[in-house]
Amino acid sequence: MTTGATVHTAEATKAAEASVALPPRAERAARAEAAADRLRTAAVDALAVTWVDNAGITRVKAVPLGGLRHAAEWGVGTAPCFDVFLADDAITTSPLIGGPTGDLRLYPDLDRAVPLAAQPGWAWAPGERYTQDGTPHPGCQRLFARRTTAAAAALGLSLKAGIEVEWVVALDGPPTEEPRYPTHGPAYGMHRLTDLSDYLRDVLRALGEQGLAVLQIHPEYAPGQFEVSVAPEGPVGAADTSVLVRHTIRAVSARHGLRVSFAPVVETDGVGNGGHVHLSLWREGRNLGHGGPGPHGLTPEAEGFLAGVLDELPALLVLGCSSPAGYLRLVPQHWAGAYRCWGLENREAALRLVTGSTGERASAANAEVKCFDASANPYLAVGGVIAAGLAGLADGRRLPPEFTGDPAAAEPGTVPRLPTGPGEALAAYEASAVLREALGEPLYRAVAAVRRAEAERYEAAGPEELVAATRWRY
Ligand code: GLU
Ligand code: MG
Repeated sequence: MTTGATVHTAEATKAAEASVALPPRAERAARAEAAADRLRTAAVDALAVTWVDNAGITRVKAVPLGGLRHAAEWGVGTAPCFDVFLADDAITTSPLIGGPTGDLRLYPDLDRAVPLAAQPGWAWAPGERYTQDGTPHPGCQRLFARRTTAAAAALGLSLKAGIEVEWVVALDGPPTEEPRYPTHGPAYGMHRLTDLSDYLRDVLRALGEQGLAVLQIHPEYAPGQFEVSVAPEGPVGAADTSVLVRHTIRAVSARHGLRVSFAPVVETDGVGNGGHVHLSLWREGRNLGHGGPGPHGLTPEAEGFLAGVLDELPALLVLGCSSPAGYLRLVPQHWAGAYRCWGLENREAALRLVTGSTGERASAANAEVKCFDASANPYLAVGGVIAAGLAGLADGRRLPPEFTGDPAAAEPGTVPRLPTGPGEALAAYEASAVLREALGEPLYRAVAAVRRAEAERYEAAGPEELVAATRWRY
């Protein structure tokens, strides 16, 4: 069900706008000086400032340390047409954003700047885009995530999020080559960890040196596949972290003569790479997913939030599965969450409820959006989920009955499938008043234009061709 309900009250909208105002130039200059001193001590020569486009590709502009103050004061020039880039670097257009004209200013978030452990001399910071006159660029995905987080905060709510990263590691080779694996150990097998012992240790070290709190690392199901999860943090921070984790894994892999794929599908018919988003909702230090009268201890607010997410999932796939290849991953019995249902610890449900063990539930309870993959722009993914959740919370929605077991084994038609292709998801997105309002017209339409262009590009392609075209892009 998609309602036309207004997601944000006037007060929340005001708070959201205030949260993305560019700080005064003198303050930015002072922060840049402090950051430059800190980075110089760590032998950093240059800062890579990234943003993630609507196709899910991380793009970058870099500045030498000597130029950091100028970058913080005036931003780094970037073209608005990046908002309509496709994953293969083709460029489409959209009604409000596109074309060769214009200039945006990319500002590094220096609070998040960190030396890159596997790229000596380099540091990284996520960027945000503003216009030349300092107003927020309506197409900026990180600002969108910040706005939705601020809208929740205006209601007294905070969120913790974590994005799991799955990847396939292969021997280096040309982009046209099928993957050849550096380990042939079984799924979840110690064999794989032993084969790649130095590599995995270096991944862990690099993540740790960058201040990331790794929860666990393990071999996954598909050939050459691994997963790492890190501690939850605020939603924008979690999206930043997912960018940093992936690029750290890529950098460590390159140093070991390996390459990586975070693409939804690496081998046709195989198990894919997910980009599951975990979320918990908090009020005044209390986890709203625990101790309430609802299913498995959900409070009414948490239940409303999750009901909102579940209602909006078909449309949310446009934000959480950027690549048309994502629909080759999102199939039954692949633990990808291909069904629009929820269930306690159910790995086939798109929305998996996690309560944690007895004794730790007050801190551990959370929900996992399983259907998303790593071709997603993580800022759009978290922002979209929060917007959908707030809409469900605002009108006090209830969850439908839980589904236990394998939906594929249920009577046909009992559990609805999520969209099975980009066209179906796009139709749901175009009908979503909630996402339209939350994203704002320019971003909402730019995302749709990119999805439509990619869907058309691969419409006639068979699975092999689609997988080959996307495998080494993410
Ligand atoms: N690789 C699976 C996916 O595509 C997920 C496996 C798991 O449950 O971690 O989402
Ligand atoms: Mg996994």
